Amino acid sequence: MGMFEWILRAGIQDASAQMLPQRIELPAIDSSWEVDWRPEKAAAVECSRVLGRLTLGHPRAIDAIGGLQTWLKAEARRHLPEWLALVAEDTGHRYKRVSVRLQRGRWGSCSTSGTISLNAKLLMLPPDAVRYVLVHELCHTLHMNHSPAFWAEVTRHQPDWRLQARQIRALQRGLPVWTRVQVS
Ligand SMILES: [Zn+2]
Repeated sequence: MGMFEWILRAGIQDASAQMLPQRIELPAIDSSWEVDWRPEKAAAVECSRVLGRLTLGHPRAIDAIGGLQTWLKAEARRHLPEWLALVAEDTGHRYKRVSVRLQRGRWGSCSTSGTISLNAKLLMLPPDAVRYVLVHELCHTLHMNHSPAFWAEVTRHQPDWRLQARQIRALQRGLPVWTRVQVS
């Protein structure tokens, strides 16, 4: 039974169901997932890496979206901290901690105490754009501002940063709605 038939049969006008994606593309890590929502199953996200399939078992679509968001954060935590460490080695910058969250606005931030926060949605950008965000936040460990000195440092490590920033702005608008929904 497809998602659409199930909605009809249940007679539910659930806007969340329309937000559930059929596929999830994560260009940053070159991975692609098929999403299979099975409202009749118990609440859980089953992730088959071999098949590239996510099976969502949640009777309510909004909970299925919550399940997907949690999965995206976990996926980001598998990849982004290691990636940041590599770029830090490349650029010679130091940071104290890294945290990965699903944020609405910012792609990343850097605190005065040296904690870099990264948005799980970075996985939805191309690798070069992700690298630019990592370089940007790492350069903030040196300059806590957007001064000419800061941008000179960014340019040193990512000469095409303007192109990447433009690309990010363009892609941002097209990000799937399910990543933005506030669940509970
Ligand atoms: Zn900045």
